[in-house]
Amino acid sequence: MADTQTPAPRRAPRRKPQPRPQTINERAERALRELRTIAREIGAGQDIDPRELDDALGELTLPVTVELGGDSLPRENVEKLATDLRSRVDEMLKAAVAFRRGHVYCFFCDRPDCSHTQPTQRDETFAGYTPTGRPTWTTFTNLCLEHAVDRVDLLYADRPEIIAITQPDSALKEGMLPGFGGDSLAYNMLGQVVAGLIPLNLDVERRSDVPRVALTIQLVETRCGRAIRRLRANLLGLTSTEIQDVAASGYARGPAE
Ligand SMILES: [Zn+2]
Ligand SMILES: [Zn+2]
Repeated sequence: MADTQTPAPRRAPRRKPQPRPQTINERAERALRELRTIAREIGAGQDIDPRELDDALGELTLPVTVELGGDSLPRENVEKLATDLRSRVDEMLKAAVAFRRGHVYCFFCDRPDCSHTQPTQRDETFAGYTPTGRPTWTTFTNLCLEHAVDRVDLLYADRPEIIAITQPDSALKEGMLPGFGGDSLAYNMLGQVVAGLIPLNLDVERRSDVPRVALTIQLVETRCGRAIRRLRANLLGLTSTEIQDVAASGYARGPAE
């Protein structure tokens, strides 16, 4: 549009000041920043604890194809870049996604949260994997019987005993096939201690009608994109929030008892 009128005195000048032309380095930096933003947004879109996200994200190397002939960017180049970004970020976050508090990773479904990853009853504990990597569960009483614990009946006495059983990874991973988690580095179960049966109110002094659970503490090693190994403790049977809540209420009524 031609401007034939004299601008009003207080109007801003029509021509914006030209920005200084960016150097190639500055433009490369802008492109990298944009890639970084996209990749981090893909990561944040994963179902993953934000505290874990920063730990898990590392250096990403991308093969980028840029067609220099013609006027436009070929659609397949655009789609390949988007696909590569998604799959490489997903791969990088696999270890962080694999560890889910209160769950055991299912290699059969390749998921941390399918129906196989938690017991159906709270007196059950992790009993190892099927050959194809599906977690199996057993009641604490059965575990005691399998381990030939003396006096399993004491679990049900007037003043019940707490029994603890330690299981190394060899017991928990026995029979797993390679390719179904038997050789997994992303999620590696190192062992567990199971204690039971523990009343939900943590009052182990007397028998009551309070439901009792198997409390399982697992040690899991995960390996992230940066090849960093992390040891994580997993709790089954009680959540750490439940334990804290009981402890807090116990302290609150402490002096009266
Ligand atoms: Zn499953
Ligand atoms: Zn055993």
